[in-house]
Amino acid sequence: MKKMKGLKVLVFGSSGLVGSSLKRVLGNSNKISELITSSRKDTNLFHIEETKNKINEVKPNIIINAAARVGGIHANNTYRTEFILENLKINMNILESVIPHPDIKIINLGSSCIYPLNAESPIKESDIMTGVLEPTNSPYSMAKLSAIEMGRALNSQYGHKVLNLMPTNLYGPNDYFAEENSHVIPGMIYRMHKNKKNKEGAFSIWGTGDPLREFLFVDDLSESIEFLIDKKWEFDLLNIGSGEEISIKDLAVKLKKIISFEGELQYDNTKPDGNPRKLIDSKLINEMGWKSKTNIETGLKKTYTWFEKNYDKLRI
Ligand code: GDP
Repeated sequence: MKKMKGLKVLVFGSSGLVGSSLKRVLGNSNKISELITSSRKDTNLFHIEETKNKINEVKPNIIINAAARVGGIHANNTYRTEFILENLKINMNILESVIPHPDIKIINLGSSCIYPLNAESPIKESDIMTGVLEPTNSPYSMAKLSAIEMGRALNSQYGHKVLNLMPTNLYGPNDYFAEENSHVIPGMIYRMHKNKKNKEGAFSIWGTGDPLREFLFVDDLSESIEFLIDKKWEFDLLNIGSGEEISIKDLAVKLKKIISFEGELQYDNTKPDGNPRKLIDSKLINEMGWKSKTNIETGLKKTYTWFEKNYDKLRI
């Protein structure tokens, strides 16, 4: 619905985990007069002309870029070429398209994996580019780092305002739930649910189960965007985390209870652990007045409820 006053916002990537949450959350915001959502069905972001046409046609005040090729540790490490190439194309096409429009503000989504492997936890925004990347997802990270650099170039040369948000590991409804290429929460939900249905006695956790991860329920990220959208952006890089860390083993134990899977938990050491720990420091946004509100228990329950309800029409 069109409201008289407020921002006109264009969301790219509106059918993914983040985009679909943004539709739910921003759809209710009184800061926004018009929310235009775009997915690959209407605009192919690999084509610069289509990207330019969409932006010129909508003429938004703000673009939120939630479009990306994403996946879990296996997908990132296997489809390395596609992860760097597709993410570079999406980001560069959007950012090149806005060169003639310095008045359009941009919120660009990245991920905490852009930070160096050896950055000390909790990882601060200032740790960017201070060391080598974690090897399982370095192609994805390089594409996201290039987008930050391009945003900075646009800002210093042409005056664009680009805010890069680096959320920690996200999860929630409408995530990609599959055997191999998912992130850990949707991947484990998919596999454990299947094991329960097939009455299999054991579930295998990839790797050692020791890595620590910080998870953020996706609607909390969307609420942080709603919070930031009309603020003066004093930083161009902001971490968005929950501050809550859990080991992969403890996560499996929680999911076992929620899913009511009665088998035993085992470990598959042929699979990589990836980064041992990547807690981010969300002090900057917390000090501005935003905090995440969904704890891991609540978020996992909401996610599993959604998964069960939508099992027959999951994106494959
Ligand atoms: P990461 O945070 O970039 O490493 O990506 P993931 O979410 O894919 O993986 C997080 C951690 O969970 C890694 O240590 C994985 O080895 C571990 N893990 C355990 N079981 C699974 C699973 O079923 N799927 C995925 N994707 N990761 C798993």
